[in-house]
Amino acid sequence: MATMRLEIVTAERLVYSEEVSSVVAPGFDGELGILPHHAPLLTLLKPGELRIRKDGQETLMAVTGGFMEVFENKVVVLADAAERDSEIDLARAEEALKRAKERIVARGADLNLEHALSSMRRAEARLKVARRRRGTTAGPTRPG
Ligand code: ATP
Repeated sequence: MATMRLEIVTAERLVYSEEVSSVVAPGFDGELGILPHHAPLLTLLKPGELRIRKDGQETLMAVTGGFMEVFENKVVVLADAAERDSEIDLARAEEALKRAKERIVARGADLNLEHALSSMRRAEARLKVARRRRGTTAGPTRPG
């Protein structure tokens, strides 16, 4: 079966480097499916779920934004942060979501709305991936 190289890196670490058969990534304008020998591509990612297929098995990762480049049968994801489903601390993500929502709802004088919304989206991406792995569905979340 055809494969391609997938590397997921952050400023801190090499998160993943394997031969895989497909990748579905959270592109800025919607989900992007990449198969081996895809045309060259450079795109922005938003916080969300990255699904990897390798040897018939699916691996889920949360990414919090960054870039994805496809070139010469290699996919490189340069992520702000990335965690495998098994690495996600569910309680920490729940706390981060709660904090961000509280900041938004309180509308304090020092509120940086963009910053708070970004925190919320990062936490939601982590919760979606962690809960999917645990076989429960993440409900929709709205500030307030
Ligand atoms: P928090 O407020 O909980 O720190 P955050 O969204 O501000 O969350 P990031 O700045 O995106 O965190 O990530 C900082 C580091 O912490 C990264 O290395 C990231 O992989 C890790 N990280 C953040 N949240 C989690 C989590 N829930 N489970 C595992 N690792 C996490």
